Amino acid sequence: MTSTLGTLPDALAGKVVTPGHPRYAALRSTYTTVGSPAAVVRPESAGDVSAALRLARRTGLRIAVRSGGHGLSGSGTNDGGLVIDLGALHRVEVVDRASRLVRVEAGARWAQVAQALAPHGLAVSSGDHGNVGVGGIATGGGVGWLVRSYGLTIDHVRAVDVVLPDGTFVRADSVNDPDLLWVMRGAGAGAGIAVAFEIEAMELSRVGQVQLAAEVDPAGETLRRWAETMKEAPRELSTAVMLAPSGTGTTALITAVVASGEPSVVRDAVGPLLGIGEVTAQRAQVAPYGALVPSHHLHANTGQMPVATTNGLLTEMSSDAARALVAAAAGPRPILVQLRSLGGAVHDMSPSATAFAHRHQHTLVIGSAFPPDSRPALAAAWAPIAPHTDGAYVNFESAADAAACARAYPGPAGARVAGLWQRYDPDGLLRPGPRADAGPEQRVP
Ligand SMILES: Cc1cc2nc3c(=O)[nH]c(=O)nc-3n(C[C@H](O)[C@H](O)[C@H](O)COP(=O)(O)OP(=O)(O)OC[C@H]3O[C@@H](n4cnc5c(N)ncnc54)[C@H](O)[C@@H]3O)c2cc1C
Repeated sequence: MTSTLGTLPDALAGKVVTPGHPRYAALRSTYTTVGSPAAVVRPESAGDVSAALRLARRTGLRIAVRSGGHGLSGSGTNDGGLVIDLGALHRVEVVDRASRLVRVEAGARWAQVAQALAPHGLAVSSGDHGNVGVGGIATGGGVGWLVRSYGLTIDHVRAVDVVLPDGTFVRADSVNDPDLLWVMRGAGAGAGIAVAFEIEAMELSRVGQVQLAAEVDPAGETLRRWAETMKEAPRELSTAVMLAPSGTGTTALITAVVASGEPSVVRDAVGPLLGIGEVTAQRAQVAPYGALVPSHHLHANTGQMPVATTNGLLTEMSSDAARALVAAAAGPRPILVQLRSLGGAVHDMSPSATAFAHRHQHTLVIGSAFPPDSRPALAAAWAPIAPHTDGAYVNFESAADAAACARAYPGPAGARVAGLWQRYDPDGLLRPGPRADAGPEQRVP
């Protein structure tokens, strides 16, 4: 393997893990994908990232970039290439408490961020799992537990430290290289490697969390009423729904999170959800924000979850869309269907403000299927849902193909993304795409 890599640059001494190394087994894979890279480089600075990029250019090895390793397309690893794993860059610091500005390195996990910010009474809404990495969320979107009150994670990124594919370092902010800041907020994967982000956090210590269960009729009227209720809901309320088979029917398991530790605010915000159908409240608590992305989520990634996932955004929950969602969850080859409420602060941003242009849709729908026939099952179940969708979110997509890219980056924003990827990465070193070693299944749906 040393022969593939040649002589290592001094900067990377002790930071390169190759097959046979005791740490290789723990570093080769991501959450969804077992990889066999020729080498995993663990940079400890932006300079090391530059050195890793130069090494990849010199050796011709294909690059995979990894922060937390939770990416659903498996692009955080490869077979025979060079993985740049930012896991050693995981510092979190409060830069200025008065303006709530925090600096977060790309390899930190969101559980670590929540833990570090809690003593300051600050939080950043990121995602629903503490093991997800900062880099993937903060360059792609970030539909978190507080999405309707905070917006997406990227909406609050004020500056990004980036190593461009040619190895140069740029601090991108609203004054210095605003185009790079724009593309890093939603489509960063194809432009450069983010090593750290400056993010405006929210003032928040405690949240209300209420667990509800609602019976779902086959026509999906319960889902329509959930969507209508969420459209009118105060922005303090965000909800995530999982459709679960129950006996011969379907149950919507709803997690409602309120951006307030005040029980009366929580009650008032969640109350209307009790009217969407036959609803039982299963659990209610006021807890620190960190309880939603706890440290016990932290784990090693070994390809343990070979899931196939796709998603779409709904502008309206029509009767036909609702019926299709229930059928996908309860059909003969069921898939896991999850819904996330959008709106609120997500709609505050102009569609042109960031590379995430989807600012009018109200619901994110995520479909997932598991082995043995995950990809065909997902494709079959998703086909009736797809016509109801209006764009997609890049981070809940296993198929990194051109069609998925067009759904995530449509219209003028898509044209600008393509132009900026070409400007910052003319050789396509980081360009998202199907793994060259992927079988045909990898490329559907
Ligand atoms: C269990 C689970 C729960 C999730 N929940 C949510 C959720 O609630 N909300 C949500 O929005 N998303 C969620 N996601 C999706 C998540 O946003 C993406 O999977 C995201 O890419 C993960 O980030 P990561 O750093 O862990 O990924 P990685 O696997 O490390 O990276 C994935 C890809 O992102 C790009 N990337 C990563 N880091 C950088 C960087 N520093 N610079 C440039 N590009 C980079 C690269 O192309 C990389 O290959 C979830 C995923 C899982 C598996």
